Amino acid sequence: MNYRCALFFVALFGWLLLAAPAAGQTAVSENTAVANFPHTVTFTLQIEPDQTASLTYGVDKTSCLDVAGQVPVPVDSDGRVEWTWIMSRSGNPPPGATIWWEWMVADENGRQTTTPRQTLNLADERFNWQMVEAENIRLYWYRGERVGPLLLEAAIEGLTVLEADMGISLDSPVTIYIYDNSENMRQALLYVQDWAGGVAFVDYNTILMGVPPHSVDSWGKPTIRHELAHLVIGQFGRSCVGGGRPNWLEEGLAVYAEGPPSERVRRDIQAGIEQNRFEPLRSLIGSFPAHDSQATIAYSQSYSVVNYLLERYGPELMQALLLELAAGTGYDAALETVYGFNTDGLEVAWRQAIGAPARAIPPTPQPLGSLPLATLAPLPAPQSQPTPAESAIIPVREEPAPAGPAAGLCGLGLLPLLGLAFWTTNRRGSRRTRSAGLDQR
Ligand SMILES: [Zn+2]
Repeated sequence: MNYRCALFFVALFGWLLLAAPAAGQTAVSENTAVANFPHTVTFTLQIEPDQTASLTYGVDKTSCLDVAGQVPVPVDSDGRVEWTWIMSRSGNPPPGATIWWEWMVADENGRQTTTPRQTLNLADERFNWQMVEAENIRLYWYRGERVGPLLLEAAIEGLTVLEADMGISLDSPVTIYIYDNSENMRQALLYVQDWAGGVAFVDYNTILMGVPPHSVDSWGKPTIRHELAHLVIGQFGRSCVGGGRPNWLEEGLAVYAEGPPSERVRRDIQAGIEQNRFEPLRSLIGSFPAHDSQATIAYSQSYSVVNYLLERYGPELMQALLLELAAGTGYDAALETVYGFNTDGLEVAWRQAIGAPARAIPPTPQPLGSLPLATLAPLPAPQSQPTPAESAIIPVREEPAPAGPAAGLCGLGLLPLLGLAFWTTNRRGSRRTRSAGLDQR
């Protein structure tokens, strides 16, 4: 037998081994997931009709618990299994997030196999993204040549300031998506306030922003620093014991990280002092007002309070407060432990420090905390052009089909082997194709 024939035999036996399922294994083919971002992900599987299937799926993110969905899915008379994850019910992960899934298939004798875990990267394919990167930062954008580099530079500056002023730095890489207006950004999200111009996904280390090229300097640069601060503080104050931060602290720190206060922030604070327009600090523990002008004042007031804490007491105590809150201590108790006053005491001290009139503070029940990390769109609102609701279809990477025998026969003695191969393949069903070998459970 010549060398080529020997190679052919080796290849053929390898193929036979792959083609013949081991005892207890279950035939699975066409194991795919297709996303229609941000609305759905459809999982499809082809098995034998007399088998049963259940899907386990989840998203890669920073989480204290490994939360996975598990759903039994009916098998139709052709052995086809299909299930759609409808994200309007759960909220959608941001672009760049990775979905994973695996199927558990059982045959009529109850023997179970689990498909190898596969992944699908979610992408907003409405736009042709460009990318720039620096250490720990990857930034995508699609409109305006200078937008990406300028915002990357601002992001790096923002991180430097956070480290210098608050002693907090980024501990894992962040991904930033810059849309060309806030309307296009909001269309990537199923749940977002209608005034949001930027959103930080702390669990995904991802930021989305709508920045028209003409407002890169006036709005884009401070806002990228604002959103980065949310991520950095979120990483620093990450809690697996249910600890959270009051909204005035979260947003106040983020506005502080934008850099010197803008004209608008200074105007709000001045008006708050002169016209006694500040909200009770306790009312800013939860979500900010839905109306954008009231929300604007809430941000400015929060900045002023945080600025007072940092200037008067320094970054070490701020870090101590964040860690105390992360440990699950209540808002008032954490403030008392670190600064010696509660929310009301802080309000009294802050009002005095900035020259605002004193306010009679009645005992108030503490509202529930929340997780609103949206940022106001720039004012005046950017001109937005609605984007056609175009589907973002992403086929999952499939494993290649096993190779058939090489062309050209070395001798008739191979015919029985080819017959065996044909029989083995058919025994697994004519649909056996691209999918993977199975882990035996
Ligand atoms: Zn914010």
